[in-house]
Amino acid sequence: MNVNQSAPPVPPFGQPQPVYTGYHQSSYGGQPGSTAPPTPYGAYNGPVPGYQQTPLPGVSRAPPSSEAPPASAAQAPCGQAAYGQFGQGDVQNGPSSTVQMQRFPGSQPFGSVPLAPVVSQPTVLQPYGSPPTSAQVTAQLAGMQISGAVAPALPPVGLGYGPPTSLASASGSFPNSGLYGSYPQGQAPPLSQAQGHLGAQPPQRSAPPQASSFTSPASGGPRMPSMTGPLLPGQGFGGPSVSQPNHVSSPPPQALPPGTQMTGPPGPPPPMHSSQQPGYQLQPNGSFGPARGPQPNYGSPYPGAPTFGSQPGPPQPLPPKRLDPDAIPSPQLNELPPQQKTRHRIDPDAIPSPIQVIEDDRNNRGSEPFVTGVRGQVPPLVTTNFLVKDQGNASPRYIRCTSYNIPCTSDMAKQAQVPLAAVIKPLARLPPEEASPYVVDHGESGPLRCNRCKAYMCPFMQFVEGGRRFQCCFCSCINDVPPQYFQHLDHTGKRVDAYDRPELSLGSYEFLATVDYCKNNKFPSPPAFIFMIDVSYNAIRSGLVRLLCEELKSLLDFLPREGGAEESAIRVGFVTYNKVLHFYNVKSSLAQPQMMVVSDVADMFVPLLDGFLVNVSESRAVITSLLDQIPEMFADTRETETVFAPVIQAGMEALKAAECAGKLFLFHTSLPIAEAPGKLKNRDDRKLINTDKEKTLFQPQTGAYQTLAKECVAQGCCVDLFLFPNQYVDVATLSVVPQLTGGSVYKYACFQVENDQERFLSDLRRDVQKVVGFDAVMRVRTSTGIRAVDFFGAFYMSNTTDVELAGLDGDKTVTVEFKHDDRLNEESGALLQCALLYTSCAGQRRLRIHNLALNCCTQLADLYRNCETDTLINYMAKFAYRGVLNSPVKTVRDTLITQCAQILACYRKNCASPSSAGQLILPECMKLLPVYLNCVLKSDVLQPGAEVTTDDRAYVRQLVTSMDVAETNVFFYPRLLPLTKSPIESATEPPAVRASEERLSNGDIYLLENGLNLFLWVGASVQQGVVQSLFSVSSFSQITSGLSVLPVLDNPLSKKVRGLIDSLRAQRSRYMKLIVVKQEDKLEMLFKHFLVEDKSLSGGASYVDFLCHMHKEIRQLLS
Ligand SMILES: [Zn+2]
Repeated sequence: MNVNQSAPPVPPFGQPQPVYTGYHQSSYGGQPGSTAPPTPYGAYNGPVPGYQQTPLPGVSRAPPSSEAPPASAAQAPCGQAAYGQFGQGDVQNGPSSTVQMQRFPGSQPFGSVPLAPVVSQPTVLQPYGSPPTSAQVTAQLAGMQISGAVAPALPPVGLGYGPPTSLASASGSFPNSGLYGSYPQGQAPPLSQAQGHLGAQPPQRSAPPQASSFTSPASGGPRMPSMTGPLLPGQGFGGPSVSQPNHVSSPPPQALPPGTQMTGPPGPPPPMHSSQQPGYQLQPNGSFGPARGPQPNYGSPYPGAPTFGSQPGPPQPLPPKRLDPDAIPSPQLNELPPQQKTRHRIDPDAIPSPIQVIEDDRNNRGSEPFVTGVRGQVPPLVTTNFLVKDQGNASPRYIRCTSYNIPCTSDMAKQAQVPLAAVIKPLARLPPEEASPYVVDHGESGPLRCNRCKAYMCPFMQFVEGGRRFQCCFCSCINDVPPQYFQHLDHTGKRVDAYDRPELSLGSYEFLATVDYCKNNKFPSPPAFIFMIDVSYNAIRSGLVRLLCEELKSLLDFLPREGGAEESAIRVGFVTYNKVLHFYNVKSSLAQPQMMVVSDVADMFVPLLDGFLVNVSESRAVITSLLDQIPEMFADTRETETVFAPVIQAGMEALKAAECAGKLFLFHTSLPIAEAPGKLKNRDDRKLINTDKEKTLFQPQTGAYQTLAKECVAQGCCVDLFLFPNQYVDVATLSVVPQLTGGSVYKYACFQVENDQERFLSDLRRDVQKVVGFDAVMRVRTSTGIRAVDFFGAFYMSNTTDVELAGLDGDKTVTVEFKHDDRLNEESGALLQCALLYTSCAGQRRLRIHNLALNCCTQLADLYRNCETDTLINYMAKFAYRGVLNSPVKTVRDTLITQCAQILACYRKNCASPSSAGQLILPECMKLLPVYLNCVLKSDVLQPGAEVTTDDRAYVRQLVTSMDVAETNVFFYPRLLPLTKSPIESATEPPAVRASEERLSNGDIYLLENGLNLFLWVGASVQQGVVQSLFSVSSFSQITSGLSVLPVLDNPLSKKVRGLIDSLRAQRSRYMKLIVVKQEDKLEMLFKHFLVEDKSLSGGASYVDFLCHMHKEIRQLLS
């Protein structure tokens, strides 16, 4: 199956097809075809006037509201079920005697075995190291000529010069270390539970949903500026000093001005050079060409472009984005003896603020719709609410680019080092105000395409010869217009029906595919969903199985539907498993479901065909009966071992047997250690962090899952994995199949029904109901001069051009990088066409087409004027997160820093007005690049804190791979909203503040969210009335730390805050569980991890420090 496959043989149109040999054709300009129909055709294949709009499938019914009853299953402490708790010889699970089900020999009853005893184990204390007693100055400041001695008694203002006081005091409030024994969701469990860790397995540490976690202060030792002093593991920026070939000249690293005091711990200063390691996929570094003068018409930084650093001469009236004049020493200052220096610090208000940029864009661009008719327009930021009017280019909801103006030559592109990439979300959901793509039917001959490059008809195709031919905008080939598609041209050369046809006037639309676009030349059957439920001891005990079965009873009524269909065409099937698999016959004619057990997991087969995949409404009674019985059947199970690969194999075989595509929903709890294909061992080893072998933690431990994934892709079998681990489950390996099949992974560490059911059920409902395209192939075509060379996301590729997706939903993006293969032309620009061939939920084969035209430039300034930093960061994060599979994490970080420095240095050299080298000048469009890049660098994948588990990192790594630009934006730079500053009556979201501790007022309350986590931070001196209104308690001290639900109170503030929480959740693709954090409380450490402008406990630099470091790197490149 291939979107690039040849067009079906079309009936001859009465004209011989000329032999297309390239751009110039002898047959061009021939006689007008006599077969041209005399009248224009009706719009879209039929008499229906206007577009036939397909309603958004599956959205017209409300989500199920039935709450599953709280499971009464044993609430055993997390971590209790250590592996190997029960002998492998222990019995199969079977139905209880009251259950009437057909039993297979493999299923045996077992005697009752007492629950695993709870072994009391004292919680482990995590002692804090004593906070550093003296503040330290960063070498970068000195290098930047912001002079340097630091007064030891500096107030800790969260600037990275010293430990914030609250950290120090917080360290004293950890007598019990409950936090570190506790759970990511902030649900500090009762102590007795926290103490229940068993056996040799290490207790499960905090594992927040996205794995961002806090660092054990003990591990960090004295906190020090990340760029000063000896390198700590995970701390430094650079490896050994290696001069880069593209450095014109490099001053010796750490050539400190004489007067600079280094008050950090003694030791060699870290070299600031980035070294480029072999084995890491790098874009070739462009060397900087000869110095160029300022560009014509571009003599100075943009109005408002910030300038940082030292500035010679007397301070002038400064625009607001400049540094505090006090922070800009004159050159003479450096010549003063050190004793006479005073410390200057960079005013955080003077460096580019994400909040301000977001706010400005909202104000400037939020009111007008974004009309896509103009080539190369940079869309509003993802954080701005705006409507899109499609006038010929794909909406930014479908495609966002790192730059909307591409350098004409590869030399220029190499010089700038700005990655040219598009983040594509082919099935993105649109707001209700915007129409989903129209479906175009070109009849039996299928969609009209260029004969040569196979590009699909689009608004950029040029009709010629009175409309009888069209010239392909991608390859310039001249094609005949089939007679049934003929239309006259108006005086401008445009077809007179252009605005009646989506494919001639819109950026995005769909074609109905013909049978030639289908596997085996056969229209597909509707897809199927198979629910595969782990019924081992852990799954039963946590209450998961009961909760899930109860939920499925109602959720199955909400499978995705299309086109206003009464019911979904999707069929469903059920499997349960532990060491063996249980298939269920739920045929509507049966009185009771029947179970069939397959215990030969080495050679998986599907024991029944008829009755396994059924229509929900036809088999409702049997399905309900099954879902009632499953929790009872396995209620007394003692089986702790599970298989994993055979489960996926079974689901895939079932789809194969039914000759359909589909999705497997796997609910899995533990490392699959049972003897079977894909068996895994616990290979977690934190000692590998910061070594050359760290990459192995991200790699799958066996190739078996890649092989399996490949088979799944061939079958159109997408796998969604819901993980409920109590300890290490090797997410890096288990997520291989979901990742390669376009599926999703959800992780609920230490799942307990009472704490986590809302989050799990919310995610499950959304996941089951969301519209999915199956058995999909995506192809990105480009006009001559550039081509797609690299792809990032959850998919499989068997060649270099076709992105194969067993499934693709509206949340997933595919990121495509482009490279030059020829010179581009300013006049014609550059075109992208993304074609996605897929099977809809109803089994219809379709092609979704997105087109986008970009400008091309010969001046670097135009490139820098039309970049989109959020998209750039999305690409760079994905590039880095893939890089850790093959290279040491430090190398990956260094590569990012180097590239960023080169981008900014190229701007400085070629586009900015000449000025003192001490001045940092950033392009207006990229002024947030340093702050955002720093957030990527100190993320858990690239610089983990001591409490971030290997599974958390692998989980986040694969999540980010498919994120869209809005998701990476808030994920790396969380949103922090003060709640009591704005009037309660105000209906709008309060304006955000910067993610730094010094922005927190102890008299206020804040919400912080990053798309996966949600915190409510309560200041210690918040008004009593506020406390009462929100928490229904009389004082701050009575607020329960770690609370996850706010009481429902009938007052304006309570309503507003709860409403805001609901609204934040509605904006995100995954449910964010709330954690209430009190100032100075131990949970605050978890919260502070997300204050990304501050220095992080894992060694990540503060924004200010990082900006100084970037400046130094840039200066080195320029010198
Ligand atoms: Zn073409």
